[in-house]
Amino acid sequence: MSDAARVLEKFAKEILDHATPSTAAQRAQIRGYLEGLQQAAEQRDKKSGANYWQESSSPAPHISEIPNSASEHRLIYLVEDDPLLAQDLALQLGNFNYTTRIFHNLSDFRQAVRQANPAALIMDMGLPDGNGADAVAEIQEGRATPLPVIFLSGRGDLEARLAGVRAGGAAYFTKPVDIGAMVDALDTLTAQKASEPYRILIVDDTPSLARFFALTLQEAGMITEVVTDPMSIMKALVEFAPELILMDMYMPGCNGLELAMVIRQQEAYIGIPIVFLSAETDLNKQLEAMRQGGDDFLVKPIQPDHLVSAVTSRARRYHMLRSFMTRDSLTGLYNHTATKDLLNNAAELAQRRNTPLAFAMIDIDHFKSVNDTYGHATGDRVIKSLSRLLQQRLRKTDIIGRYGGEEFAVALIDADATRAESIMNEISVSFEQIRHRVDDREFNVTFSCGLAVFPPNGSAAEFSEAADKALYEAKRSGRNKVVLAGG
Ligand code: GH3
Ligand code: MG
Ligand code: MG
Repeated sequence: MSDAARVLEKFAKEILDHATPSTAAQRAQIRGYLEGLQQAAEQRDKKSGANYWQESSSPAPHISEIPNSASEHRLIYLVEDDPLLAQDLALQLGNFNYTTRIFHNLSDFRQAVRQANPAALIMDMGLPDGNGADAVAEIQEGRATPLPVIFLSGRGDLEARLAGVRAGGAAYFTKPVDIGAMVDALDTLTAQKASEPYRILIVDDTPSLARFFALTLQEAGMITEVVTDPMSIMKALVEFAPELILMDMYMPGCNGLELAMVIRQQEAYIGIPIVFLSAETDLNKQLEAMRQGGDDFLVKPIQPDHLVSAVTSRARRYHMLRSFMTRDSLTGLYNHTATKDLLNNAAELAQRRNTPLAFAMIDIDHFKSVNDTYGHATGDRVIKSLSRLLQQRLRKTDIIGRYGGEEFAVALIDADATRAESIMNEISVSFEQIRHRVDDREFNVTFSCGLAVFPPNGSAAEFSEAADKALYEAKRSGRNKVVLAGG
């Protein structure tokens, strides 16, 4: 119902935003959406009837108000005639915040898919009332964007796999299912396509010009922050964390060249692209600016599309370089150095604004024995599964880092002790429920977690020490638990 309501709300809001009266066609569309909403309501009433609803198994799928992925991207249709396998798969996917709706035959599924689209479909190849591949080929027909499909089969031979590919399947899994790999595939298939927008800091003492540049870049999908007083740039650097600085050359107080040098003398900003923007047409002065650490020199007045393309190409490159430098290759999380830098920032910000902050150190329990028993590659998969769980359960604004081998560090922005404890406990329960599989063997893994919060901890060093101590206490007192420092 909320999915249907959201579509309606979005549509209505767009009409409102345009400030022109709605057209007859739009009103007809609204009536259509209202009908959809009513249908959704009626469908719910049939819950106890023939429809199989499998809600997410986790008690609170939305731990935070701003989940990493919007909830509408997390509904999965699973067509599987073996009820035990279907239940089990739904339960496991629930740990990764996917809500699974199970169908035991094709006709129920066909009816449902006509009403609402899932984020992805998991389809068994052989079903009592027909062939899964044929059914998928049939529903994909005439769709503008094909439904992401994962095939499930007892067969692993080429012929069966080919049938899957020909029906438009994006992935193919043989039973028993490797849940880690399945979640990987679902994550990829349901990820929102748009990448993170670039963050551009505009430094110009003329407010109207700064606003014009900001609007131009925003229209191209970037996020901007304007500084008209060059002396307040330090605050913007820390709080906005730009990926490119668009800098006016001549400003009162200090000029763009001096400012560029000040910025570049700080290690954290050595590589940040600085693009000068000025009415200066003297080539010698331009070259001088480049020598002083500018990456490009644009001459005012500038055409909007020139501005956008100059900024985009440099921001893109920096974005990529930074991700190589700051990300851990196994998990894609922040590496040790980046995590520490970000924690520093977060701690400073929390103190300045007097907002709560929680810091969690996580260490997987008895991980050495996982490696010894099941092999290093399996150990790696366990690390990845915890990383994925953290990414899915925490907010987009939270900082998630791989601190060491099987150690993770998480900064929960704006979370007080109570909230942080309940989030980490819920993640801990979910992690313990994940069944890792190697060949025919299954096992569970747990972690221990030490939590420290601001207040009373203030500096990053205080956070680390307190969380470390709490983690040690969690290990000492039996593992698989979350311990709050000083609690
Ligand atoms: P404890 O509950 O006390 O934390 O026990 P533990 O076995 O987890 O702790 P210990 O620190 O003794 O062992 C950590 C192991 O993690 C040792 C190391 O081989 C393994 N490890 C570290 N990094 C990786 C990695 O990237 N992949 C894999 N597979 N194993 C790793
Ligand atoms: Mg360790
Ligand atoms: Mg450990």
